[in-house]
Amino acid sequence: TTRPSALVLPPNSVIGILGGGQLARMIAIAAAQLGYKTHIFCPENDPSASHVSTFYTKANYNNYSALDTFAKQVNVVTYEFENIMVEPVEYLTKKLAVFPDPKILKTCQDRVMEKSFIQSLDIPTAKFEPIDSIESLREAVQKIGYPSILKSNTMGYDGKGQIKLSDDIDLEKAWKKVTSEVNVSQAILEQYIEFESEASIIVARGLDNTEVCFPLVTNKHRNHILRQTIAPAQLPEYVHKDAKEIATKIAKSIGLVGVLAVELFVVRDTATDTYKLLVNELAPRPHNSGHWTIEGCVTSQFEQLVRCVCGLPLGSVDFMRSISEKEYLKQNLQPIVMTNLLGNEVDQWEKQLSTKGSHLHIYAKGDARDGRKMGHFTLIPSEDK
Ligand code: ADP
Ligand code: MG
Repeated sequence: TTRPSALVLPPNSVIGILGGGQLARMIAIAAAQLGYKTHIFCPENDPSASHVSTFYTKANYNNYSALDTFAKQVNVVTYEFENIMVEPVEYLTKKLAVFPDPKILKTCQDRVMEKSFIQSLDIPTAKFEPIDSIESLREAVQKIGYPSILKSNTMGYDGKGQIKLSDDIDLEKAWKKVTSEVNVSQAILEQYIEFESEASIIVARGLDNTEVCFPLVTNKHRNHILRQTIAPAQLPEYVHKDAKEIATKIAKSIGLVGVLAVELFVVRDTATDTYKLLVNELAPRPHNSGHWTIEGCVTSQFEQLVRCVCGLPLGSVDFMRSISEKEYLKQNLQPIVMTNLLGNEVDQWEKQLSTKGSHLHIYAKGDARDGRKMGHFTLIPSEDK
């Protein structure tokens, strides 16, 4: 599915996007700014992204006749979430270019495959064992010990389908909970990592095989849902360098075209006061921890994806006003903070409108269910000291 570089898609071309949530919405907004049209394909009624996209097809992802029509109406396809069925995406690759390649999707959907791939690159992860029955769970607990985390192997998100295990746990109950919550029969048991913080880094790779990494950021979760991102991560420079090396290695080895987020655990060795990074998971799409790049960076993660899939050169990942990450850290500038508006926190929208340096985004998703990502705001610190 590589397109010869002579076939760069010019403005006015149509980018097809599978999925209609806030990520698709922000991809569509970035595409429009560069003069591209977008076509959202998803089964939901009135999806958030359809409000800002040029075209919208409401159909199930495995509706092959709808996919046929869609393929004729768009020039390239991308997707906004990694739990989408792989078969329809593979089907589309026979008709036109799809980025990132669905084989990447396959790896990122399956935690055992994902962690095996990462370890094959000599990049550390938590110790893990594949689980397919209560018996294999009992054996795996012998090897990994407590505390550990049992996660559904596929279909998990925002902490769904996972449970922390300690010595007083009823394994049978835990196995039932994890498999029933997201309706799957395979799981993974992972060693529990006592991390100091969680971080992530987003790598973008173009059709010309060049890549860039956005700055490393710190992520704060509440109830397994991302609450805040702090950019750049307040960590020594070598940690930033290590993260870039990890993300670049992954992007190259997997043949990425598009953007990919690498979620990391930051572990501090107290004896030597040094930091080590473990990869937790990969997402081959824009990531919630990259929303701050809309106002915080010269090129946002969304524009970067548009550039990748259209065969354009990648944009600068410097901070706004073209300050490099190195310079930002050196000058000890205040970090940029992105905060999610979850559920009815979206009611704060008016307050954020009048907060100095706050950039408000509302996704217009309707029902503000508990924990649902309804919007976010990014605080850009002022320069006056
Ligand atoms: P999801 O697909 O739901 O995002 P993750 O694997 O990222 O699943 O897990 C969600 C959160 O649970 C992580 O961000 C982290 O806070 C915690 N977590 C996951 N795996 C581990 C682990 N092995 N050790 C410690 N904490 C973990
Ligand atoms: Mg995660």
